[in-house]
Amino acid sequence: MYINKGRLYILSAPSGTGKTTICGEILKTVSNLKVSVSFTTRSPRAGERNDIDYTFVSVGEFKERLAAGEFIEWAEVHGNYYGTSIKRIEEIQNEGSDILLDIDTHGAKQIRARHIDAIYIFILPPSLKTLRERLYKRNLDDEKTINRRLDKAKDEISESLYYDYIIVNNNLSEAVDGLKSIILSSRLKADCLNTGWYEAEFGI
Ligand code: ADP
Ligand code: 5GP
Repeated sequence: MYINKGRLYILSAPSGTGKTTICGEILKTVSNLKVSVSFTTRSPRAGERNDIDYTFVSVGEFKERLAAGEFIEWAEVHGNYYGTSIKRIEEIQNEGSDILLDIDTHGAKQIRARHIDAIYIFILPPSLKTLRERLYKRNLDDEKTINRRLDKAKDEISESLYYDYIIVNNNLSEAVDGLKSIILSSRLKADCLNTGWYEAEFGI
């Protein structure tokens, strides 16, 4: 009765807020939703798999792809390049799924500037103190890097004003429920109704 529109859900948050955790949970519970795997020049972390978590490429390859116009958006984040492939988005849309884009605020700005139909969601930590604790808990960065990420977090949070929805990730399951509600309610919009079924059933 409803059809997926291949909608883009743009998800941004300061590093350490819990975006990866929330994305992992939402993909388990919401059908017809896929994450577009980004290209990055950063090195894989322990446990990360090529073409699943990211497609890991050299700076040279990234720049070639950028010059060839392969990215819908791209950004330099914490000294590494990241980009979203137009082809991958189209592939997911052709499968009839919606797309979750886990991208930084610069990337989100580029998509907005292109007037692409998308839903913008920002995830906030409950406090800067909690964000620091989560960055430590994640156990990926040294003290200096954590301080750099916290400084950047304040700039990123100021960008949250431009997003359609804000989710505070205090309690994880409530945050996941919040994201799920946004996605499911957007699918109930009138423009998602399968008009073929509508006409056949009700003759309207
Ligand atoms: P991000 O992808 O935003 O950098 P992660 O998903 O890696 O963040 O989460 C950072 C750390 O915080 C992880 O150790 C994760 O288990 C933890 N975490 C995420 N959400 C919550 C939450 N609601 N309450 C407590 N810890 C959380
Ligand atoms: P990480 O290296 O910790 O996985 O991600 C660092 C930051 O890069 C996160 O804020 C994440 O949202 C962002 N990011 C990941 N992929 C992309 C992308 O394709 N484009 C942009 N603009 N940012 C991305």
